[in-house]
Amino acid sequence: MKGKSHVIKPLLDKEYPTVSHGRGVYLYDIEGKAYLDGCSGAVTTNIGHGVQSVIDAMNEQAKKVSFTYRSQFTSEAAEALATKLASWTPGDLDYVFFVNSGSEATETAMKIAIQYWQEQGRISKNKILSRWMSYHGITLGALSMSGHILRRKRFIPLLEEFPSIEPPYCYRCPFNSTYPSCDLLCANQLEQAIHRIGADNIAAFIAEPIIGASAGAVTPPPYYYQRIKEICERHDILFIADEVMTGNGRTGKPFGIDHWDVVPDLMALGKGMAAGYTPMAAAIASKRIIDVIAAGSQSIMSGHTFSANPQSAAVSLAVMQYIEDNQLIAKSEERGLQLLSGLQTLMQKHDIIGDVRGKGLLCGIEFVKNRTTKETFPLGLGVTERAIEKAKNNGLLIYNASGGIDGQAGDSVIVAPPFVISEEEINELLFILDQSIGELTLELEK
Ligand code: PLP
Repeated sequence: MKGKSHVIKPLLDKEYPTVSHGRGVYLYDIEGKAYLDGCSGAVTTNIGHGVQSVIDAMNEQAKKVSFTYRSQFTSEAAEALATKLASWTPGDLDYVFFVNSGSEATETAMKIAIQYWQEQGRISKNKILSRWMSYHGITLGALSMSGHILRRKRFIPLLEEFPSIEPPYCYRCPFNSTYPSCDLLCANQLEQAIHRIGADNIAAFIAEPIIGASAGAVTPPPYYYQRIKEICERHDILFIADEVMTGNGRTGKPFGIDHWDVVPDLMALGKGMAAGYTPMAAAIASKRIIDVIAAGSQSIMSGHTFSANPQSAAVSLAVMQYIEDNQLIAKSEERGLQLLSGLQTLMQKHDIIGDVRGKGLLCGIEFVKNRTTKETFPLGLGVTERAIEKAKNNGLLIYNASGGIDGQAGDSVIVAPPFVISEEEINELLFILDQSIGELTLELEK
């Protein structure tokens, strides 16, 4: 490894700038260079950097107590946060199990689903179905549920065979069909998978309402989740919405699944929950599920040392309060429309953009070699990484969302700035993106 650093970074031999500070939608490195945070870090810093009320809440809680163990105490902060979350979630998704990362949140939701059936003596119901082209986290349970080829492939012998159906990827329909005449073949495939595996062996189906890290804001067609939920209910299978990326206002509604008016049985949250001010995540369960466990073994067989720690809870609560006080979910919707229309304009100009999509401030761009045939660039060309690097050099951060399915999906990036971004700052973002994609096109033509 080059240099003096002892920190293991994503690429061991690459030089990374050292951050100095963040303000609003900008980050600054110690050389004084400014970066427009066009992807909220990892789609996380939903309210931007340096918000005073969050810093105050952090200090106030630290003066009282930063850590308690969940088996010994509850805290006012954790209680208030769970109540606030329950007021945002749809239906009776009212019971919150706090964890520290999105991977822990999806894995906890998986375990709660399995335990729910065990409590009723249905112990064979322990598989979780999921989709190809999905990402639910990096720990082995969460990775088992993930259909992210690149992240799975080194660990395949250790993983369960969970991904079982095709994604709702209309731009490259896996069934060569088009909506609405397809009659949602991609959702109907869940029914076929259930028949093959047997409903008696399946605890739950998990999906990201809008596909994030493995494809770049792939948005299912209308009625897709209504069909999914109806199939799950008919076969006694729980539906888990992985809202780690789409939750907490990111898509212009409190949760991504709200766009389809469906109430899941379980939900996983992370990323934007504390907007990056502290690690915080959660699995949220409906009353029906908690009632069954309360009447049975009483305790959910999971938990972490840092679960529900008061420090992170106080910060997360302050983040949610800031979103409410400044109507930032409506802002996410409004600025999102401006961003998507700006990306559509860029698509007219740059032939290497094959598709743009998304909802609210969760937008994706898919790059293609040939827009007419949708031919992808070979993975080895590293088009996604080169696009990200060009934008970064020009002072804009965007997020890698390529799932590594050579020839089957294009290179993709996510554009997802903080909800506090202004109209002028969106224009600046689009200007830098235009310039960076222009530079990339010239380089690819050489
Ligand atoms: N679920 C989704 C939808 C995600 O996008 C991610 C991370 O990108 C995760 C789960 C895993 O979250 P974490 O990286 O916090 O473990």
